[in-house]
Amino acid sequence: MMTRWQAIRKRDKLAAQLSSASEVLRGSLLQRTIHHSSGCLKCARGEGHPLWVLTVGYPGGKNRQVSLRPDQVPQVRKAIEQYHQFKRSLEAISELNQFLLRLDREKSKEREHQS
Ligand SMILES: [Zn+2]
Repeated sequence: MMTRWQAIRKRDKLAAQLSSASEVLRGSLLQRTIHHSSGCLKCARGEGHPLWVLTVGYPGGKNRQVSLRPDQVPQVRKAIEQYHQFKRSLEAISELNQFLLRLDREKSKEREHQS
């Protein structure tokens, strides 16, 4: 079982990792192919043009799509990964704080029984 001290150390370490939130981006990357109806040799050959899109979902089933330039894709991919990392860390910090709450409660119960 984790001690109070271990839990606090772990929590503070996680919280320190959250210091650079400026890069986070929620959403997912999609690659689409667009086809021109006429006047394009590539599309006439059936190739089409690859297009990267960031899609972001909102409550109520709403969705926003942002077209990306190819050079934006690596940066966006990294920012999405950071968002997930942040979410995982926040969740872990919350669990540790819950553990500390329970630990405090058990301690005060013990004290009640002793007195
Ligand atoms: Zn085309």
